[in-house]
Amino acid sequence: MRLAGLNKNDFTDGGGVCVSLWVQGCPHHCPECFNPETWDFEGG
Ligand code: SF4
Repeated sequence: MRLAGLNKNDFTDGGGVCVSLWVQGCPHHCPECFNPETWDFEGG
């Protein structure tokens, strides 16, 4: 598994303070995707 990002003190993506991680590689290519930089399976 490749990581696209890690935030150890995330105040915006959950309730309270949390750890968030984003994984790299997506085959869907949705037109309204906020994170197209995560599509590449070789990135991260
Ligand atoms: S929104 Fe972006 S990351 Fe989520 S499934 Fe669609 S293309 Fe993939």
